Amino acid sequence: MTLPDAFSQAARALREADSVLIGVHVDPDGDAVGSALGLMLVLESAGIDSAPVLPTNDPLPSTYAFLPGADRFILAQDAAVPDVFVALDSPDPRRLVLAEPLARAARTLIMIDHHPDATPGDAIAVLNPEAAATGCLVWELAHHLGVVPDSRTATCLYAALLTDTGRFSYSNTSAKTLRVAAEMVAAGAVPNDIYSAIYENRSAGAQALLSRALGRITFANGGLVAYSWVRDADFVETGARPAEAENLIDHVRALGGVEAVFLVKVNGDGKSRVSLRAKDSADVGSAARELGGGGHRAAAGVTLPGGLDDALAAVLPLLPGGRD
Ligand code: AMP
Ligand code: MN
Ligand code: MN
Repeated sequence: MTLPDAFSQAARALREADSVLIGVHVDPDGDAVGSALGLMLVLESAGIDSAPVLPTNDPLPSTYAFLPGADRFILAQDAAVPDVFVALDSPDPRRLVLAEPLARAARTLIMIDHHPDATPGDAIAVLNPEAAATGCLVWELAHHLGVVPDSRTATCLYAALLTDTGRFSYSNTSAKTLRVAAEMVAAGAVPNDIYSAIYENRSAGAQALLSRALGRITFANGGLVAYSWVRDADFVETGARPAEAENLIDHVRALGGVEAVFLVKVNGDGKSRVSLRAKDSADVGSAARELGGGGHRAAAGVTLPGGLDDALAAVLPLLPGGRD
């Protein structure tokens, strides 16, 4: 199916739907939350009712609570099987976690995603790995639904694009990306307000957590890789909220002279969540996939059993300078 066909099919299925649920990946980021709320608002403008559903029983990350409609997320246990389920920014239905059974039971599944490893199965698949964010694909879908996005919609989708491009700094920041961002601003998204709400609203605890993460930066693989870590106790001791760890990796990434960086979040439940970022031409997506995770060339992640030492032993050999 070509991409224009997929957009048309998705628009038709949504127009004909009796009920629509919108799901996002576990540990939802700005693209996941912004895309879900943006799509809900686009559908509302088209006269279609929908509800965004959380992947787990954890609350929405507080960083994104300012987005229009953020209070309308529901828990999977409170949702009925919908006519149409739209999975956003989730290359694999398993990433929907508690919402996965709803996606599988829906009459129609629509996937809207930009991950290169997306597995569409029999879904209507609106997939474009060239898109900088899933939010850009939702923006395009609005046009296929005949909707002119309002300022609330533009705010949500600009937040999606801002976060997935690392504030318009990653390699997915192209002329097209900036043109889409300009359209969103013209539609009423206010860059300064959205930037401040996401990046300049950190608690003192979050700054203390950042200080710990920066203080622990360690070089490996002959200096080509740098990593850091945070543990559950760091959140308790600093008072940082879990959602405030989302951008720590950007500060590790700010180091010069390295080809890849990663941050390990060691959970009390005996698992470690690893966030990887490549600089220049390194590919951390393949390393994450090799370990059972996924993502893009430049930004990927995986959850591994064990603590910090287990994570280091698994990840370092797969990164630049690690196989020698
Ligand atoms: P993060 O480091 O959590 O911001 O994730 C970076 C990218 O990797 C995102 O595109 C995620 O969707 C993807 N990703 C993170 N964790 C996993 C995982 N456990 N499995 C598959 N993809 C992941
Ligand atoms: Mn995402
Ligand atoms: Mn994304």
